[in-house]
Amino acid sequence: MGLNVFVLTGAGISAESGLGTFRDASGIWTQYDLSEVATPEGFARDPAKVRAFYNARRANLAGAAPNAAHLALARLQKGLVARGGRLFLCTQNVDDLHEQGGCSDVVHMHGQLGITRCHGCGATWPDSEPLSGETACARCGETGTARPHVVWFGETPLFLHGIEDALEDSDLFVAIGTSGAVYPAAGLVAWARRLGIRTCELNLEPSDNARVFDERRYGPATEVVPTWVDEVLGGQGARPIPPIPPAP
Ligand SMILES: [Zn+2]
Repeated sequence: MGLNVFVLTGAGISAESGLGTFRDASGIWTQYDLSEVATPEGFARDPAKVRAFYNARRANLAGAAPNAAHLALARLQKGLVARGGRLFLCTQNVDDLHEQGGCSDVVHMHGQLGITRCHGCGATWPDSEPLSGETACARCGETGTARPHVVWFGETPLFLHGIEDALEDSDLFVAIGTSGAVYPAAGLVAWARRLGIRTCELNLEPSDNARVFDERRYGPATEVVPTWVDEVLGGQGARPIPPIPPAP
């Protein structure tokens, strides 16, 4: 039996690709009011402002490239599959740098910047052009409803049932570059512990719930992630990861 690894990634893995993080001292949420640009209420009040914010995010993404951490996870995915295991890659990121780095079947629990959604009927379509209030939805014909297919505050994250199932089937839970502040993603580590799954945090600095993890490693993602991947693939088979008792 191969090793089933559940990896949760956040903005910290994309930071060295030139995409801003959200919750640290210089993060995007210090420059914008999230209630204005990342909530359904903000979109209702000022849709042009919301579209401008996400058009800037799309432009940033067009200039970004996957870094060594994204590439290492693609190597991990292929390596685990070759050994009869699996990588379930769940990301809070709305960029597509995991895919650009070679990962497949990435679960985007907070949606994707490169997809436009009709706020009226829910239709979605791939779209790298700027969002426009003029766009007519191909399904319902409404204009003024084009928004990013991104989960806003107050909206329910996507694919939660699949995420639950995958976590229950995992041998190891690893959080990479995530602040530990946004739920339900931040609650996955506690749940993994309840299931008796070993947990590991790879981050630039300790996250809000760092103390919950069995193992912690800190440094730039482009350094700590490739090193960790080498250890997992190198040690797999020769040195099984010991089970830990469930948290009290
Ligand atoms: Zn529509």
